[in-house]
Formats: sequence, C-alpha cells, structure tokens
Amino acid sequence: MSGQNPVFIPGPTNIPDRLRQAMNVQTSDHRAPDFVNFLLPLLEDLKKVFKTESGTVITFPSSGTGGWEASITNTLSPGDKVLVARYGMFSHRWIDMCQRLNLDVEIIDCDWGSGAPADRYAEALAADSDFGIKAVLVTHNETATGVKSDISAVRRAMDASKHPAMLYVDCVSSLASMDFRMDEWGVDLAVAGSQKGFMLATGMAVVGVSEKALAACDSATCPRVFFDFGDMTRANAAGGYPYTPPVPLMNGLRESLNMLFEEGLDNVFARHFRIAEGIREAVRAWGLSLCAVSPELYSDTVSAIYVPEGFDSDALINHAFDKYRVSFGVGLGAMAGRAFRIGHLGAMTNVMALSGIAAIEMAMKDLDYPIELGSGVSAAQEYYRNTGSIAQSQAA
Ligand SMILES: *Cc1c(COP(=O)(O)O)cnc(C)c1O
Repeated sequence: MSGQNPVFIPGPTNIPDRLRQAMNVQTSDHRAPDFVNFLLPLLEDLKKVFKTESGTVITFPSSGTGGWEASITNTLSPGDKVLVARYGMFSHRWIDMCQRLNLDVEIIDCDWGSGAPADRYAEALAADSDFGIKAVLVTHNETATGVKSDISAVRRAMDASKHPAMLYVDCVSSLASMDFRMDEWGVDLAVAGSQKGFMLATGMAVVGVSEKALAACDSATCPRVFFDFGDMTRANAAGGYPYTPPVPLMNGLRESLNMLFEEGLDNVFARHFRIAEGIREAVRAWGLSLCAVSPELYSDTVSAIYVPEGFDSDALINHAFDKYRVSFGVGLGAMAGRAFRIGHLGAMTNVMALSGIAAIEMAMKDLDYPIELGSGVSAAQEYYRNTGSIAQSQAA
C-alpha cells in the first residue's frame, strides 16, 4: 500500500509510469555502433533544458553532489579563491566541499530564508580589485528553505565590477521545473541531477559547462579521474563514454526529455508555479509561515514551513509517515525540528498536491496543531478551481 501514495519530498521525486517503463530495458552494448545515435541527440536535447547553445552538457553516473565535485575539480586548482553565499543546508554543503578540496573559500553568511544577496556579492567582487576570486558559487534553489534566488542579479553584479570570475550555479532542484537560462545569465557551470525535475531514479549528475569553463580545465590542477571533463567530452564526441554508462537511466532521461518537450518547458514552469501557489494558499489558511522571507524568493519546487512554537517538525513528519504513509521533507540544519518541507516538483499535479495538503493537515490535527481541519485543502481547492486550464492541471 505504501507505494501507492506520492512522495512529497523535494527529491527523489515521483517517477511517472512512462519513465519507469523507459528505464526497464534489457542490457544493450554501449560500444555497439548504434549507441552514438542515442547518445548525441540526448546530449544535444539536454542543452535545450539548460537553455544553452554555446555550452556543452556532460553527464556522470553519480548524484548531484558528484556534479558539484566535477565542476570544481575540473576548473579550479587548490588554493583558488571562491566566493559563495550560505543561506541553507545545500549552499552550506557546497561550501564544505570547497573547503575539503582545499579551495580558499570566502563565505557570505546570510539568514536562512533569504536568497543570494546580489549586493553583497557585488561588494565582495568590487573589493577584489586584483581578481583573486576565480569562481562565484550560487545555489539557485535552496532546497532546505524553499528559496529561489535571482541568478541574473548575481551576473549583473559580476558584470558591474567587470570581474572575470566564472559563475557556478547549483540548479539541482530547479532545472526542468523553474525557468533557468544558462546562456542568458552567463552561467559557466550549472549542476543538476536525474532525480528531481527530470522525474527519474537517482544516479546521474547532469552538468552544463560553458566554453570558458571547458577552457579552464587546461590549467586547473585539482585531481580528478572519474569526473574528468576531458575524458568525458572526448569520449562523447566519438559517440561513447569513458566507462560503462548507466544506459537504463539514460533511456529514462531520453523519455523524460520527450515528456518535458511535449508539455513545453513554459507549461512545465507554469504548472509548478500553480501547484506551488495552491500550497502557499494552504499555508496561509493554516496560519503558518514559510521560511522564505518574501514572495519573490518563493520556490515553485519546494516549500519549507515553520511549525508553531513548541511543536517538533520531526515528530510531525514521522507521524505523517507512520499513520498515513506519506513522506514529507524534514527540516535540515538550522531548520531541524522547526520546519517541515513539502516537495512539489517533477511529476506533480494540483490534484496530487491536494492529497499532500490533506495528509499533512490530518497529521497536524492529530498532533493538536492550532489549525482548522480542511482549511488548507479548501484554500488550495479554491485557488485551483479559479486558476489555470484543464490542460495544465492534467499535465504530467
Ligand atoms: C538534491 C540537491 C543536491 C544534490 O544532492 P544529491 O543527493 O547528491 O543528488 C544539491 N543541491 C541541491 C539544491 C539539491 O536540492
């Protein structure tokens, strides 16, 4: 029975039947001459999702974290200075990785619930007159707090100081769910994974790499072997992979792209926005508040919601699972015990979202939260009734 309920964690996300079937394939030979006909269009089509024409997309058997490591080790050298803001668990973990890879990390600490501070990036870059900073790192969608940041504003801050640093963006929980524009925003490295917006099983890191970032590989001296961009791009150009590729997952990725293009990326983004708005209406009706401090920061893929004073969000999440067999996201890091998260990305519809709202509402009522049973569901129902089209609500 438990397998019947959708998950409301912000990754891994629900896998549509169509993608589960696409991944269910017999072994095929990745060195057979026809593999090239599969691989090259796949990599080419991925560029459309990143919105890059000049960049290259590289895939690794890995999770998103491997994509981070690949981006750093291929383009930087030990001791290189990087500038990065911390406003949640994922930006924190990326910082931790940079430190462990012996980079010189300049951290801009921000309140959790806020987003990437373009003004503070601008200040730090302006102060860096000898261009010591080699890379600017930004988490597009901070999954721990449900905050989406303005990448174009960071790019403008970099351009304003004519700073030559490269821009690295974690788009693991935004790509293929919220608008992302690699070329327009001048992103040099964009890191994603298979198990979020692509609606697939975990197991692939998908990285967009600009021409400038590829060129930086020549002088970067961080050790890398499995994640070497050069090995991968050379093998890909010849229609292959430097080692055994995860072909079933790649079949799933092919079908995922087909689904995304059939729906249309703009419709995918609009669907996520509408689902998220309904959830935000429910949060308001409960009298609770989001971690994201202002509306322009609201993420359309995950909502982090504070529980009232004196309640424990971990107990709530556990109760929802024990009694109703529905999974929600726990509070991470500074949010532990204080907030829970509703993941609403990937293969999600407004009707599925209503079931999640209803389930967490029951769990809150069971635990004597000061909410009115049905209030969140009703608020979301009103919103969904009064917005959008049947086509949107039935998508995915
Ligand atoms: C999920 C996620 C990651 C990567 O996590 P993996 O578990 O390694 O795939 C990185 N950053 C963000 C913002 C994420 O949401």
